[in-house]
Amino acid sequence: MPKYQIPFNRPILTGDELHYIADAVTQGHISGDGAFTKKCEALLKEELNDAGILLTTSCTHALEVAALLLDIRPGDEFIVPSFTFVSTVNAFVLRGAKPVFVDIRPDTLNLDEKLVEQAITPATRVIVPVHYAGVGCEMDTLMGIATKHNLKVVEDNAHGLFGSYKRKPLGTFGELATQSFHETKNIVCGEGGALVINDPCYLERAEVIREKGTNRSRFFRGQVDKYTWVDIGSSYLPSDILAAFLCAQLEKKDVIQTSRAQIWHRYMEELSDWASTNRIGLPIVPDDCQQAFHMFYLLMPSAEVRKHLKEHLEERGILAVSHYVPLHNSKMGLASGGYEGQCPVTERVSECLLRLPFFTDMSAAEQSVVISAVRAFEVSSTYAAESQSPEYFRSGGR
Ligand SMILES: *Cc1c(COP(=O)(O)O)cnc(C)c1O
Repeated sequence: MPKYQIPFNRPILTGDELHYIADAVTQGHISGDGAFTKKCEALLKEELNDAGILLTTSCTHALEVAALLLDIRPGDEFIVPSFTFVSTVNAFVLRGAKPVFVDIRPDTLNLDEKLVEQAITPATRVIVPVHYAGVGCEMDTLMGIATKHNLKVVEDNAHGLFGSYKRKPLGTFGELATQSFHETKNIVCGEGGALVINDPCYLERAEVIREKGTNRSRFFRGQVDKYTWVDIGSSYLPSDILAAFLCAQLEKKDVIQTSRAQIWHRYMEELSDWASTNRIGLPIVPDDCQQAFHMFYLLMPSAEVRKHLKEHLEERGILAVSHYVPLHNSKMGLASGGYEGQCPVTERVSECLLRLPFFTDMSAAEQSVVISAVRAFEVSSTYAAESQSPEYFRSGGR
């Protein structure tokens, strides 16, 4: 018997993955940029307002290509939430730039747009918002700030594929955006990603960077008669075997998203009484955001209460997990100028957030087990005494 009756995540097959892989192999093109790569790029293009799409080996690599395209160099600064995956930051740090960490909003847990302008210096080049849990950042404000200060925007949209803000798809706001198809995301191929190019001026160079700094893509289109070294670059093209897997998932995106929406709404409905009785925070989705149903989390009143709920669920065979450890006060963050207390909401949320099992083929019976177990947990008055209320988060924690 596995340790957990209900895992935190379980990647799914939608049906065509294995035979598409067999097709890729039989067709004899298993390196990058084959038929399935093209098909995935076309499907994503349709979803993302006709943007230029290049599949990449990961979202991490798409972020690296973005930093290369924007010519980020030592001395540059970029604005980024501390509450994110390390790749959002590393991609720019690899070019020698300095991260300037900005705190998150206590409601959506997205980059707090009200704190961005004060973090801008003459060295700032880019803002890198992350649409946490697939709920859009306040893009009108962020794009306004970027325009005013002549900054670029790269959206880390690893959670947000199929989400939108004011009816515009997430991933179509910044000059560039990135997607992830890692096994933990909504649409997966094991490891994979995509660069979304909203400003066509980056398209040709992005192809070159992805193809080891050569103009091989132009050569294959018959635009040059031999290909050669024209720029810096690396190997960021996924195999068509992975693209075949991804293609099967993208074609079934409605089935995947419908199922995830149903699971999310059921958690919300069946946990809201329990949450308000116990003063526990639930996700907040602003009216102008269509979310991507990437995850479901609880904001517990304190680190202590979170630990007790996590253990309570573990005893019942359920794996619930925390999320990002703040970057500003990590070893690398401190070395980059971050300091303790710089992002108080991030520090608090990181200690108190617990993600419940959430995966596309979670059965109603499995979800009932999780919901009953959560509802059986009461925040005792002992913990409540030194705890923070949901209003603490909602009010900004400041
Ligand atoms: C998963 C994730 C990444 C990294 O994606 P990979 O495809 O694994 O490189 C980057 N940013 C965020 C916000 C993520 O959740």
